[in-house]
Amino acid sequence: MKNQMKLEFDSISENEAFARVTVAAFLTQANPTLEEVADVKTAVSEAVTNAIIHGYGEEVHTITMLARLKGQTLEVEVIDRGVGIPDVAKAMEPMYTTRPELERSGMGFLFMEAFMDEIQVFSKPGKGTRVWMKKRLGKREK
Ligand code: ATP
Ligand code: MG
Repeated sequence: MKNQMKLEFDSISENEAFARVTVAAFLTQANPTLEEVADVKTAVSEAVTNAIIHGYGEEVHTITMLARLKGQTLEVEVIDRGVGIPDVAKAMEPMYTTRPELERSGMGFLFMEAFMDEIQVFSKPGKGTRVWMKKRLGKREK
């Protein structure tokens, strides 16, 4: 089975839940386990929160979410055109955060890595950030 979707939404916190629920609805067709659905929702939620808080800060702009199914493999991308990340490797270190005053703990990327099979982050200061994630779904084949 092959399928894809693209969603664009405003960078407001209400849309964290919207993105999470939408990706869950999309991946249902791959017959995932409940745990896999929960994992993907958590990872998407972290990526979208980062785009809202770090990428766009106080401003409201567009976030794009792409999801692609190739057989039992799900790929999700969360894209913002915000401030970007100067040092991606450093940003992905556990406990690294640039917003400690917002009680951020620097665990978002760690969760994305833990709950997905693979994650790649592409970012350019001043241009924005693209988080690409991949996970194989459905321990029980359809
Ligand atoms: P937590 O996710 O635990 O609330 P956090 O968001 O600071 O805290 P991570 O999600 O791991 O932690 O992100 C680490 C750092 O990477 C952030 O503090 C921020 O500096 C940077 N970052 C992450 N995503 C983006 C983004 N979309 N745009 C700009 N900077 C980002
Ligand atoms: Mg985060």
